[in-house]
Amino acid sequence: MDSQPRPQILFSREQIEATVSNLATEINNNYRGKHPILIGVLKGSFVFMADLIRHLDFLLEVEFIRLSSYGRGRSTPGEIKVVQGLRSPIKGRDILIIEDIVDTGHSIAFLMDYLQKKKPASLRLCALTDKPSRRQVPVTIDYLGFTVPNKFIVGYGLDWDEKFRYLPDICFVEVED
Ligand code: 5GP
Ligand code: MG
Repeated sequence: MDSQPRPQILFSREQIEATVSNLATEINNNYRGKHPILIGVLKGSFVFMADLIRHLDFLLEVEFIRLSSYGRGRSTPGEIKVVQGLRSPIKGRDILIIEDIVDTGHSIAFLMDYLQKKKPASLRLCALTDKPSRRQVPVTIDYLGFTVPNKFIVGYGLDWDEKFRYLPDICFVEVED
């Protein structure tokens, strides 16, 4: 087990708490009186989503969607697919996607396109983290928590090889691609 990378803290749990609370204030202001569906992208968004929704004060529904991932370290995206879909229709509904990280942008661009075809009333994106240095396709993030450097991020829901999702801080590990 010696070869496990050691996560180092990038943003502490206190910083996360403050940022999530600020994001929630902004989202509350924009969705007051509305009845949106928040769609969490599995698995990485589950911790962030759980914290975020407990600060929200409008009528909201929660859904999850899961995409096939093209694998850690691989820089060229393969085919992205929905491997676990939505259980309720979104036509005419206000949709807010909750994502863990926007890296190259391929996954979220695919998902936005996939959901847009279902004719929601509105479609916005809330991302915990953004790694703009790696972007390959343009993505508009409506609500952003943290901009992160070009490092591999773990903790607060994000994994390295399914490990470290449980860490309460946003960390990075030194890994080789
Ligand atoms: P994309 O490159 O398509 O924007 O990112 C796709 C997915 O790769 C993200 O939603 C996330 O699940 C994963 N990913 C990208 N960068 C990182 C990272 O630094 N750490 C972790 N844990 N996952 C990442
Ligand atoms: Mg993700």
